[in-house]
Amino acid sequence: MARYTDSVCKLCRRERQKLFLKGQKCFTEKCPIESKNYPPGEHGLGRRAKVSEYGIQLREKQKIKRMYGLLESQFKNYFTKANKQKGRTGENLIKLLESRFDNVVYRLGFAASRNQARQLIRHRHFMINDRLVDIPSYVLSAGDVIKVREKSKKLDAIHNALKRVKDNTYAWLTVDKANLAGTFVQIPERADVPLNANEQLVVELYSK
Ligand code: SF4
Repeated sequence: MARYTDSVCKLCRRERQKLFLKGQKCFTEKCPIESKNYPPGEHGLGRRAKVSEYGIQLREKQKIKRMYGLLESQFKNYFTKANKQKGRTGENLIKLLESRFDNVVYRLGFAASRNQARQLIRHRHFMINDRLVDIPSYVLSAGDVIKVREKSKKLDAIHNALKRVKDNTYAWLTVDKANLAGTFVQIPERADVPLNANEQLVVELYSK
């Protein structure tokens, strides 16, 4: 599948915000947003043109899509699904994205970024409810238990990522660091998700 392969830090600089795409580097002073928080390219430091309403909505959509590491078609599919569900479409969208397997592996702290979570899942290092699952887009249900496979328990990538997290950072997840396991207790409420983005702008964009 086609994926964005240019420097991912440029994506953060484009949005003038940390999107946490690079793993450990995002939490250090080496993060370019700490020193160069202006868009990449020769006009990056120039005067910013007035941004239209459409432009603002588009940037917000790009930002959320990139945070979760999705292609346009994948993101649009999630939106369509969210729109068909009861309740507020924007909140439904975030809940769907938060329920993806790769996102949950990242939030549990078993990967330093969602991108790394996708790689680890594809390389068959995790089980859900004692069944091997190697599909990053798999959507979890409340109560699902994620475990690192026995043969993968010594992987440096997982242990290095875990050093970054405190126990049970998120209200809808529990993590057992000693046993390299975690539970997706429930689908999170939007208010509980630490996501610096305005999904309502995405709803307005797609409603045009
Ligand atoms: Fe790069 Fe991470 Fe900083 Fe984004 S947050 S600019 S991906 S280091």
